[in-house]
Amino acid sequence: MSQKELCKIAKKDYLDSNLNDYRVLVQNPRYLCKKCGRAANAKELLCKSKKLYKKKPSKK
Ligand SMILES: [Zn+2]
Repeated sequence: MSQKELCKIAKKDYLDSNLNDYRVLVQNPRYLCKKCGRAANAKELLCKSKKLYKKKPSKK
């Protein structure tokens, strides 16, 4: 099963019929698309992915 980028597939008709699937893909997002502003939990789902969080917050 090939995973398509949310940036391309997430349109109204897709969301209407696949809302439950989509909800899983975007919960606890770890990546942000720099181009579209979408968030997802896998970088493969975004066209210009960037990590939302740095590796570890540094304690001070
Ligand atoms: Zn994108």
